[in-house]
Amino acid sequence: MKTGEIKMETSVLETIIGGSRLGIMGGTFDPIHYGHLVAAETARIELKLDKVLFIPTGTPPHKIYRQVTDAHLRHEMVEMAINSNRNFKVSGLEIEREGPTYTIDTLRILHDIFPEQELFFITGTDALRELLTWRHPEEIIKLARIVGASRPGYDSRNLLTKINRRYPFTKDRISELEVPALAISSTDIRTRVKNNKSIRYLLPDEIRLFIKDNKLYQNK
Ligand code: ATP
Ligand code: MG
Repeated sequence: MKTGEIKMETSVLETIIGGSRLGIMGGTFDPIHYGHLVAAETARIELKLDKVLFIPTGTPPHKIYRQVTDAHLRHEMVEMAINSNRNFKVSGLEIEREGPTYTIDTLRILHDIFPEQELFFITGTDALRELLTWRHPEEIIKLARIVGASRPGYDSRNLLTKINRRYPFTKDRISELEVPALAISSTDIRTRVKNNKSIRYLLPDEIRLFIKDNKLYQNK
């Protein structure tokens, strides 16, 4: 992202974000589905967050092996999906940045913009496992509390204890969040579309129609 764009994004963020506790939901959102939305809403309520900011990734460093849908289309889908919740916002912070995007860079920017806000990085248990392999995990955890949302298919038993034991700096900075179980994934949705199977009720209906209209995920 160029400096001018960062400034613009910053002013956009400043006008929309208030309060003292900010949730951050990062993801590829290719496409966004009810699993993401339920995790974000549960975190918002349980942790008394003022807002949850959805940040679609630009070029995700760990997903370079597959073709990810154009970032602006993914951003548009997120925008549509959260439109009816005034406590949910979307930011183009990562999609405008060139090259791979790293969570640490995003958190540094958000911390600079909102030095007074406590940041909560919401992630499913699958991504929580990997978190400690990301760039600068110690700084990530210093800048944001981590919220590990339960996700069907990923065993999270003793995960926190194991993480705390192995990485002592994580102590008291990661919490687990019980989310109504939805075994929905973007991968499964993409596979269904490719195989002409229904994706109804796995994600908001406008997103289903958007996928259809834009012929996403169809190529074999
Ligand atoms: P993909 O299959 O392409 O990896 P995904 O469904 O895992 O997609 P992501 O965009 O990778 O979606 O996920 C963004 C964040 O949302 C991650 O932290 C992930 O763990 C979390 N998440 C995704 N689906 C669920 C779900 N069903 N329940 C709880 N958390 C989820
Ligand atoms: Mg994923």
